[in-house]
Amino acid sequence: MTPLSEPPHLAADLRALQLSTIATQWQPLAEAAVRQHQPHAAYLAELVHLEVIRRRERRIQRRIVEAHFPMLKTLDGFDFTAQPALDRETVLELAQGHFVAEAANVVLMGGVGTGKTHLAIALGLACCQHDHRVRFLTAAELTNTLIEAQGERRLARKVEQLARFDLVILDELGYVPFDKRGADLLFGFISRVYERRALVVTTNLPFARWTEVFQDATAAAAVIDRVVHHATVLTTEGDSYRLKAAQARRRRREST
Ligand code: ADP
Ligand code: MG
Repeated sequence: MTPLSEPPHLAADLRALQLSTIATQWQPLAEAAVRQHQPHAAYLAELVHLEVIRRRERRIQRRIVEAHFPMLKTLDGFDFTAQPALDRETVLELAQGHFVAEAANVVLMGGVGTGKTHLAIALGLACCQHDHRVRFLTAAELTNTLIEAQGERRLARKVEQLARFDLVILDELGYVPFDKRGADLLFGFISRVYERRALVVTTNLPFARWTEVFQDATAAAAVIDRVVHHATVLTTEGDSYRLKAAQARRRRREST
């Protein structure tokens, strides 16, 4: 069979339209279409669909990179048997990402090492896969970023930049106490994204102790009100998962 010759303008036009998958695939698919007597419309549909699929894959990859996850964790890698009080169905439902479209929130509350960050990343990753824009930050990182931006007189711009994400994940709220300025900035940020964007917050502190983070009871109450108003609260319990896993390994070693 003679190789299909390239029509004039095609490569340049595909480049101009940024149809990179069609540019690399039109020829092999056209040869296959000739061999299989595929109708023109079916060939065109297959080619365009391939462009759409590849583009979506690249976009999702970009979403994952721009989320700045500290590491990648998945729900498949989460051992739900270690968290019997945690409702697996609720978590899987959240992973569908509808809460992001609804600008609803998720609070993950529990002790150190109980899987809060793991779940937050896994939910964030699932939301990236549903084509949502996600940004992961520790509460300390966000506060420092806001303080720095304020110092450079570009606080409003920074807040708007972060508010462009569909979902902001605030990890480790309560681990590091903020000064009054940090607490106020964090409060301002939460007020800004409230009801417009989805938030996932992980914290080791029960709501009653959020006054320690936000310095005063009124601010804490306002944040709790905003965050919890449209929130699913999930609590993780028990001892540190890694500690338990290490202890189980040690026990197995000792018993052999
Ligand atoms: P937290 O944020 O609550 O302090 P992490 O999510 O960082 O805890 O969990 C600590 C480590 O233990 C991580 O490596 C995490 O992947 C793992 N881990 C915790 N809980 C589970 C679980 N139920 N199944 C699988 N790995 C878990
Ligand atoms: Mg954590």
